[in-house]
Amino acid sequence: MKRSLVAAVIAGVSLVASTAYAQQFPARAITLIVPFAAGGPTDTVARVLGEAMGRDLGQQVVIENVVGAGGTTGAARVANAAKDGYTLLLWHIGMATSDTLYRRLPYQTLTSFAPIGLVTEVPMTIIGRPRLPAADLNGLVDYVKKNAATVTMANAGVGSASHLCGMLFMSQIQQAVTTVPYPGTGPAMTDILGDQVDFMCDQTTTTTPQIQTGSVKAFLVTSADRLDQIPNVRTAKEQGMNFELGIWHGVWAPSGTPPAVVERLTRALQFALAERPVAQRFAALATAPSTKEEATPAALDAKVKSEIARWKPLIQAAGVYAD
Ligand code: ASP
Repeated sequence: MKRSLVAAVIAGVSLVASTAYAQQFPARAITLIVPFAAGGPTDTVARVLGEAMGRDLGQQVVIENVVGAGGTTGAARVANAAKDGYTLLLWHIGMATSDTLYRRLPYQTLTSFAPIGLVTEVPMTIIGRPRLPAADLNGLVDYVKKNAATVTMANAGVGSASHLCGMLFMSQIQQAVTTVPYPGTGPAMTDILGDQVDFMCDQTTTTTPQIQTGSVKAFLVTSADRLDQIPNVRTAKEQGMNFELGIWHGVWAPSGTPPAVVERLTRALQFALAERPVAQRFAALATAPSTKEEATPAALDAKVKSEIARWKPLIQAAGVYAD
């Protein structure tokens, strides 16, 4: 047989095998890796999404929290998982910022993953412990400057959204602060509520209920406009701070996952985002679900690339790197 014919036969056989595999997919539960601790915003998005995707797929989507190194440990787990669609990653903007923040990553940002689609976009808030002696953003900045040696800001490690937001805040006030890394902002919130750590920046996905009940102090929201869910919290811009930040989430499979499986997972993602209870739950937490056009591999791929380009110069200028 000629070499080109052999190649065509092999390609044909693998296409048939891949289509047959995809038709049976999923035949068992899917694991959705969250690279932060339970109880935080990424975990909350994953649980809402996983349940709805599972309804469409006819299989359970099980959440597994694989924490460490600002989200990169969980991402590495997925990069190295079987390319069969049964192990997925739900991460966020950290996929793009970590590409510059880390000198070495245990995966290649642009080639180790098969994007499934964008999930949500959500602003962040700067919140403080209940007894923090500061009534508003000016008060917080004063307190931070006067107590620079002892003040503490929680985050979820280098590469997390809270880390990025913290960097922006520090550069705005021209004051470095001691940061306390947690395996996720879920456990950090417990310490904020217990007056153990002074303040942090976190997605509205988990801060909204705490702000609404007055359990924490709220200093600013990073959206362009105020949010209906927490109307008394002023934007950074309104208070003279020049930063806006939206945290997008996405779902990825390992690269090499059969295209038909990626396509099936994208359909399940789109199904989930169009579900009313999902939309209502996200809306209550000021978390906007992605549109059908955004919940696609091409849109997520483009987002990662444009966000790497956007954040690279800012991170390089800040000179923050991790090993
Ligand atoms: N909100 C966290 C972050 O700063 C992560 C988490 O969801 O726990 O990236």
